[in-house]
Amino acid sequence: MTRAARDPNQRDSQIQRSGNGDSRIGTGRGGPLLSTEQMERYSRQTILEEVGVAGQRTLLDSKVLIIGAGGLGSPAAIYLAAAGVGTLGIVDGDRVDLSNLHRQVMHFSHDIGRPKTQSAQRTLEDINPDVSVIPFQTVLTSENALAVLDAFDVIVNGSDNFPTRYLVNDASVMLGKPMVDASILKWEGQATVFLPGRGCYRCLFPTPPPPGTVPSCAEGGIVGALAGFMGTLQAIETVKILLGMGETLANRLAIVDALTFDVRTLRWSRDPNCPVCGDHPTVTALIDYDAFCGVPSRAHAEPAHVPESEPVVDVVRAKAMVDTEQALLLDVRESWEWVTARIPGATHIPMGQIPTRLTEIPHDRPVVVYCATGQRSGAVTEALRQAGYPRVFNVAGGIVAWMNERLPVETGSDNSRKPEPGNRKPRRRATP
Ligand code: ZN
Repeated sequence: MTRAARDPNQRDSQIQRSGNGDSRIGTGRGGPLLSTEQMERYSRQTILEEVGVAGQRTLLDSKVLIIGAGGLGSPAAIYLAAAGVGTLGIVDGDRVDLSNLHRQVMHFSHDIGRPKTQSAQRTLEDINPDVSVIPFQTVLTSENALAVLDAFDVIVNGSDNFPTRYLVNDASVMLGKPMVDASILKWEGQATVFLPGRGCYRCLFPTPPPPGTVPSCAEGGIVGALAGFMGTLQAIETVKILLGMGETLANRLAIVDALTFDVRTLRWSRDPNCPVCGDHPTVTALIDYDAFCGVPSRAHAEPAHVPESEPVVDVVRAKAMVDTEQALLLDVRESWEWVTARIPGATHIPMGQIPTRLTEIPHDRPVVVYCATGQRSGAVTEALRQAGYPRVFNVAGGIVAWMNERLPVETGSDNSRKPEPGNRKPRRRATP
């Protein structure tokens, strides 16, 4: 364990320590700090006053856990491996998919179908044989999180869902681990650093957003290079924490709008009433984070399986039902998505408003529900069926599939619902 990780708040004393590092070049008490090859490999880094040979030794002795081998985890892991962080744990239960490759740069076309931890391990060890990769080909759960995180000095959070985000936060607080957090969606990225005793993710975002209100990257889209930018930022912050150098993003939230290159940092502080890191914590053991976030359990997540009886229609059948059977076409996305593009003739009720607007949905006509890609509308379809609607169908692939078939869409405000004006408050982002 590094000194930085034991006491990440005491950076000033460590600046002195590393500043003296050059006097020890090549000779530690137990022999050379770096081999000849390592001296050459890291020469552009050890020449930095803030790193030195001693700092490089610290990096080589450090252990960093990366949650998610995706859009954020890939660049973070690549730069941490190249920098010579000696042990990298990679947690990911997924396999490489073709749609990952535009941003998850640790994986290659020939890796499709392989476990992500496997291709990550090969890539990182190819970049730097000094690095030992520990793969965790699993979904992080309340049962395994403390054991997985415990061996590492710093946690890099690149998870792509809210239950994991809260789980990693709570486990990091309970173990006293620094955590480097980032999230991305479309053209916007956010990042911050949580240091023990100085606040946590719950201080910043006390409650998870209602399920379905924040689109995933599969639904909302993501610019690959922005994932690279934010993941690289996580690697920089991690190196600073490990070395005890500079000013980290602790207690600041960086918000990057890549489309305009508007970069802001908002200050935030620890909440004394935080249920996890506050003065009188009420959450002292890991909980059921799927239930906390109101989503179906992922503990035994399997690839989506659609039984024959499931009420799913493809976009061509959906259009026919609207044209010939007077089916109600129900759009359950958020207002900004509706303004961006919608199917002509659709009725718009955002998912979160469905329970209070049931009177607007007829019982005597078929109902065809769509969202961006079919995930949120699937949940609404199920809920409406349980509420007694006899003929409700989910549009497979959502409006993305609709547009793929070159079926008509319209854009802009429909005057009944204007998009909300630009909101400067940080909005919640899912991840890669
Ligand atoms: Zn907190």
